[in-house]
Amino acid sequence: MRKKSTLLFIIIGFLLIIAITSLCLYNLRNANLKSSIKNAQVIANVVETGLLSHMINGNTNQVNTFIDSAARIKNIEELWVVRSDLVKKQYGNSNLRTPKDDLDEEVLKTGKLNYSLDEHFTKTLMRVTVPFNATSEKGMDCTSCHHVNHGDTLGAVSMKMDISEYKNNGLEIIYLIPMILIFTIFIMILISRKENDYYLDILQQLSSSIRQAVNGKFRRIHNSNEYENDKITDLINDYNKMITTFKDTSYDIERKLQGFIGQTANSSNINPLEKSKDIIKNLSNLYQFKKEIELDNTKDEIYQRLSEVFINQYQISNFTFLEIDTLKNKIQIVKEVGEEDLYCKDNIINDPELCRCARTRNDVISVDFHHSCPYFKEKNKFHYCIDVEISKNICLIINFICTSRRELDNLKDKISFIKSYINEAAPSVEVKLLMEALQESAFEDGLTGLYNRKFLDEHSKKLIPQVKREDISVGVLLLDMDHFKAVNDEYGHDIGDKVLKELARILNETVRESDLIVRYGGEEFIVLLIGVNSEQDAMNVANKIRQRVRENEIDVYAGNKLKKTVSIGLSMFPEDSNNLDSVIKNADIALYEAKNGGRDQVVRFQENQVSSVDLF
Ligand code: GH3
Ligand code: MG
Ligand code: MG
Repeated sequence: MRKKSTLLFIIIGFLLIIAITSLCLYNLRNANLKSSIKNAQVIANVVETGLLSHMINGNTNQVNTFIDSAARIKNIEELWVVRSDLVKKQYGNSNLRTPKDDLDEEVLKTGKLNYSLDEHFTKTLMRVTVPFNATSEKGMDCTSCHHVNHGDTLGAVSMKMDISEYKNNGLEIIYLIPMILIFTIFIMILISRKENDYYLDILQQLSSSIRQAVNGKFRRIHNSNEYENDKITDLINDYNKMITTFKDTSYDIERKLQGFIGQTANSSNINPLEKSKDIIKNLSNLYQFKKEIELDNTKDEIYQRLSEVFINQYQISNFTFLEIDTLKNKIQIVKEVGEEDLYCKDNIINDPELCRCARTRNDVISVDFHHSCPYFKEKNKFHYCIDVEISKNICLIINFICTSRRELDNLKDKISFIKSYINEAAPSVEVKLLMEALQESAFEDGLTGLYNRKFLDEHSKKLIPQVKREDISVGVLLLDMDHFKAVNDEYGHDIGDKVLKELARILNETVRESDLIVRYGGEEFIVLLIGVNSEQDAMNVANKIRQRVRENEIDVYAGNKLKKTVSIGLSMFPEDSNNLDSVIKNADIALYEAKNGGRDQVVRFQENQVSSVDLF
């Protein structure tokens, strides 16, 4: 900046020097020309006076000698006299003293002095013609001898003069002027430069401080004190006061806003006000989000809404939601978004403890040079797992997969905002989980943990159409503990309960997970063998249950063991009936037959059993 202004100053000075010198040269030339013309007029005057005295004295034969001697005057290269037509007419001899060139002709015609210049590099010649006009004044009355009027041109004195000498007069001063000007400008630059440096320094400090403030770095500026200037000192003090207030307020606002999203201040080079703007925008979106999830019906809707925020607001495209029940030690994938599979699925699905994020309750992020998660083997991809506590026993793990380092950095930058969304969603997810649990408990038998009859009624509404659609069979087993009342009577209800729990355990262990076990009431249980291949397979499963029950020893007290048996009635859906209630009723009839048959047996329902039951 300083160099620029100095250069500008020099250019302006240079132009000034050219202008002043040119003006001086022009004036000097004019003055020299005037002086040369004056000189010519004086010479012409001398010649005229000489000619006049030659004429008056009748000494006309000496005229040419006189003109020749006049032509020898210094710097006169040529000199001649011309007569006007008026004089030639009066004295005849028209060839004498005729005009030599156009200049002579013109001057004789106009009666006015005229000249022309013949300029060369080393020499300048002036061709000048000075008219001699008639006067009628006393002592010099031309009209007394010539037949002319006052003012008529009688003739002219023409000459060629070397005016180089006049022209160069005063040129020395022209060289001096620029020198003086250059010197003056140089001194002015030197004097002003020091003061300018001071102002420029202040300006540069101001500009740099403002630029840095935009990037979040607030710097005070300093007065060098070299030029005491009250106004500048006041300006610096005011500026420093303003920048300090601005800094304190901006950081204060940012710190307070960060508290809302659980972020801690960092020292990045971002203007705190810019960050605050960002936080406010996010808080406003977060507020909207919170209002929306309050109206959501299910947990899945909340996860869907969260997914949309991740995708649309934070441009994250691959992630998985996992719910971990720490009490039941169960892990469940609740939502998967994007093309990336959950890489650790096979490793942790049966043992949530193996998930580092769930175990440490800390973020687990890809790092360079070693594996933060032992199951992540991808070389050009990155993971970011976060853990959120939904309730005392349930935690939510969100696994993000980034396909580039830039994506991971973006995620890291925004993670506090992302977490604030998840934290807002967590209480609503907890409410939905509680509702689900409540609903589940309404369908659960408190003693055995099996489904209850109410659940069977509800579930069969969905199950039966599905079974019909898939054209599969369901084996319906109705079980009843033999002489159970006697257990209660002999050992008390607690042991009775224990026997029922043991039966539930055996059922759980014997049938497939896809089968449905229901405590139908008291010591009666129903097992739906869904998709069983044949009646014989169903019989086999029933007999397996029966066998395991009769072999099972139950501790009663003081080392005493109790063994019980079970009777089972079997009916097939849809082979026996298209209606599940009828099939259950059939199984009950078959059970009755089993009891009648001596207990501890499985009986397949037969059509003829119907009438036999009816007889009772
Ligand atoms: P059977 O071989 O004919 O089935 O004889 P049983 O004694 O098992 O038949 P009964 O239906 O007469 O007895 C069922 C008993 O089961 C009656 C009831 O007190 C008992 N019971 C029902 N629910 C429970 C329960 O939850 N706990 C306990 N301890 N006993 C129960
Ligand atoms: Mg019974
Ligand atoms: Mg019984």
